Amino acid sequence: MLGGVVRDARPRYAHLVQERPMALLYKADPVRGKEWARIMAERAPDIPFRLWPEVGDPAEIRYIAAWVPPPDLGHAYPNLEVLFSVGAGVDQFDLASLPERVPLVRMIEPGIVGSMVEYVAMAVLMLHRDLVAYVAQQRERVWREIRVRPPGGRRVGVLGLGELGTAVLDRLGAFGFRRAGWSRSRRDLPGVDCFAGAAELPAFLAQTDILVCLLPLTAATRGILDRRLFAALPQGASLVNVGRGPHLVEADLIEALDSGRLSAAVLDVATPEPLPGDSALWRHPRILLTPHIASMTQPETAVDVLLANIRRHQAGQNLVGLVDRSSGY
Ligand code: NAP
Repeated sequence: MLGGVVRDARPRYAHLVQERPMALLYKADPVRGKEWARIMAERAPDIPFRLWPEVGDPAEIRYIAAWVPPPDLGHAYPNLEVLFSVGAGVDQFDLASLPERVPLVRMIEPGIVGSMVEYVAMAVLMLHRDLVAYVAQQRERVWREIRVRPPGGRRVGVLGLGELGTAVLDRLGAFGFRRAGWSRSRRDLPGVDCFAGAAELPAFLAQTDILVCLLPLTAATRGILDRRLFAALPQGASLVNVGRGPHLVEADLIEALDSGRLSAAVLDVATPEPLPGDSALWRHPRILLTPHIASMTQPETAVDVLLANIRRHQAGQNLVGLVDRSSGY
């Protein structure tokens, strides 16, 4: 009799497991959330889509895609299996407060990469062709040429040789710049002088005319763009910060620009965001600012990447973009 009970119980249990919804909760920009909803309905009708704050039954949420995650993640969503960042970075997540059992995955998708490559190419070309100086001259009605330097004599260095840094360096090769990059572990990229680790940072900086920051924000990289780093660059070098605002020590940048150590800076990120109206960065004549738009997750491509990861997870395979909590990126 006991055996009979066990045999009967299995199919009933299996049936319940199959019927349990596997919903995805989206908590980021609501306008793009509506696009996600439409695309998800087309491409994954088997995964119910919930747009924050319409969570429905929290026990049905298996996946969360968020810029900033909902509060009390560990307890409020007992069946959560994967937490996805809708951005390439995860510094907006408090890693210590996230449940250990839930993997955190960052977004690596063609839309983010394509727009970052475009932005950095634009910024590097603007700096290479002295656009910041020409904008100032235009304001003063000054018609004065600055000698054009061939790109082969301009050295572009990228801090961070990850998904974005390598794509940027690859595209910059087409313009003929001399290229270098710096990362934690040693990388080998065709046509790029690769430097690794703190010990090689000074040598990398000493031969960089246009420095691009594409590092993740971690305890090790916070405040890296400071007076000491600027002093290690050649006189008159320039900066593009497309990493995160807290990579930069703002007062040190202004001092470096005012003293002529640096010639110009293009900043896409700031601390805090939005940048307060009284920040000195707004008014500095040799700073160009954009409001964190260098690259944006594109729903059309991001949904496919996220769905492929969910399918991988369901098949017990490795997740692409899995964050290593010990390194923070
Ligand atoms: P990624 O693939 O994780 O690459 C990070 C790179 O930084 C790796 O090469 C890594 O070295 C290096 N790195 C990390 N910590 C380091 C350290 N302490 N010293 C030296 N190198 C270090 O990241 P990604 O996808 O390229 O994205 C990079 C960052 O771009 C994001 O984290 C985000 O902050 C920023 N971002 C900005 C925007 C925007 O719109 N402004 C948009 C997207 C992303 P290893 O190769 O040795 O691991």
